This record gives sequence, C-alpha cells and structure tokens, in this order.
Amino acid sequence: MGLLDGRYAAITGAAGPRGLGRAMAQIFADHGATIAVLDLDVQQAQAVAAELGPDHVGLACDVTDKAACDAAMSELIGRWGRIDILVNNAGITQPLKLMQIEAQNYDAVLDVNLRGTLYASQAVIPQMRQQNSGAIVNISSVSAQRGGGIFGGPHYSAAKAGILGLTKAMARELAPDGIRVNAICPGFIGTDITAGKLTPEMKEQIIAGIPMGRVGDARDVAGCALFLASDLSAYVTGSEVDVNGGSLI
Ligand code: NAD
Repeated sequence: MGLLDGRYAAITGAAGPRGLGRAMAQIFADHGATIAVLDLDVQQAQAVAAELGPDHVGLACDVTDKAACDAAMSELIGRWGRIDILVNNAGITQPLKLMQIEAQNYDAVLDVNLRGTLYASQAVIPQMRQQNSGAIVNISSVSAQRGGGIFGGPHYSAAKAGILGLTKAMARELAPDGIRVNAICPGFIGTDITAGKLTPEMKEQIIAGIPMGRVGDARDVAGCALFLASDLSAYVTGSEVDVNGGSLI
C-alpha cells in the first residue's frame, strides 16, 4: 500500500531530468499517486510523465502566467475530478551580487519563485476548498534562512524568504478549509541548477560547512515532500522543514 494511493498531484518545474521535481514525481508515483508534470517545455514534461507510467500527464505551464496556471489546473481537474497535492517547485536562480541586480533580474527571479507559487496555488485552492482537503508544498531554500549561498543572489534569497511568509499566511488562511501548506528549505542539492558550476575548491568549501559531510541528493528532498504531501503529516501546517545535512546547526 502506498502513502498516496488514489491521490492526484501536480508538481511545477518537474521536467528537469535530474531535478527535485522529477525526484518528487517519482517517489509520489511509487507511492500510488497520479502525477501531472508541469513545466515550460511540454515535450519534456510529457516525456517525464511517460517515464513515470501510462496514467501520468505532462502539461506546459509557465508559472509566471496566471492564465496558464488556471488553464493547466482546470484541465487536470476536468480529467481527474479533484486535485490533492500541489508542489510549487519551479524556480530559477542567478549568481549575482547585490549591486549587479537590475530590474529585469529582480523581476525574473521573483516572478518564477514567488509569483509562480501564488498563481499555481490560486489555481488549485477553489477545488481543494470544495474537497475540504489538500496539501500544498512550497520549495524555499536555505538561501532564505542564511541570506544567500554560492549560486543564489540576494534577489533569490528574497524570493525564497517571501515563499516562507506566503506559506505561513496561506497555511493560516486555508487551515479551516482542510488545506495544509508547508515549505521545504533544501540546502545544497546536486541538480541541474547547481551542476557544472563548482570548482573542486568550491565543492570542498561547501562540504566543509555541512555537518553530514556531503551535498544532498534530490531524493533527500523528495522523501520530505512525500511526508508533507501524505497523511503522515496530517497535523503539520505552516512549517518550514530543513533538508540540508545540518548546514544551519
Ligand atoms: P532545476 O533547474 O532542475 O528545476 C527547476 C525547474 O523549473 C526546471 O525544470 C525549469 O524548466 C522549471 N522552470 C523554470 N522556470 C519556470 C516557469 N516560469 N514555469 C514553470 N517551470 C519553470 O533545479 P532544481 O535544483 O531541481 O530546483 C527545484 C527547486 O528547488 C527550485 O525552486 C530551486 O530554487 C529549489 N532549490 C534547489 C536547491 C539545489 O541545491 N538544487 C536548493 C534549494 C532550493
């Protein structure tokens, strides 16, 4: 028996072959959920859905576009009749210093990470309210908690910190409707967002700051998302869960 048997889950930004969204899609599917892989490139999204199995679906959805979020979620609700889980995972980062950030950088990073979380959530909340149930998992970052890292600029930290505030406000407002909202703060995880950008010295320096002595794996984050999406976390809402190998101890 799976932890998500009979559940329907939409995951944004899930088509990256080595990304956190892909790993979450896999573990959710392994636990019995039907998955919608949402991403910018529809072919990539459909290819990942096909890898998961015949019942899963891949759709184009640019989370910065409210109409696109509404259209994707209403297509899913039309197909499935319900939606149980939303993971707001789509994100981008830019390795800029404070004074290098220009208006278009700030807009791009806040739009995908923060505005996208709002728009995709707004697109599923009416259905979840009708069901009187739902679990929303927002992907923040350790960059929100300690003010940056090697890749994320200050605008990325601001966007991810905004997600923490939004998560708590959503959790408070939606609790009476049976909808739980939580955030995950991953530390340094080996994915495409981080791949190929590290010199051996940088990697050594990062690992030296991680008590567990290794960078994270996408499956480390996926396991936490599974907990927050499932009934195992039935009394958990408004929380931020660190998945960082002890980086903040
Ligand atoms: P990734 O680049 O593999 O995944 C991000 C996905 O988001 C990609 O598939 C991309 O196509 C998609 N995307 C980008 N813009 C989009 C848009 N406008 N609409 C829809 N999809 C869009 O990187 P990842 O490491 O798997 O990142 C997943 C999430 O985890 C991001 O929110 C990231 O900020 C966060 N995160 C990652 C790390 C890490 O170390 N890898 C650490 C903390 C937080």
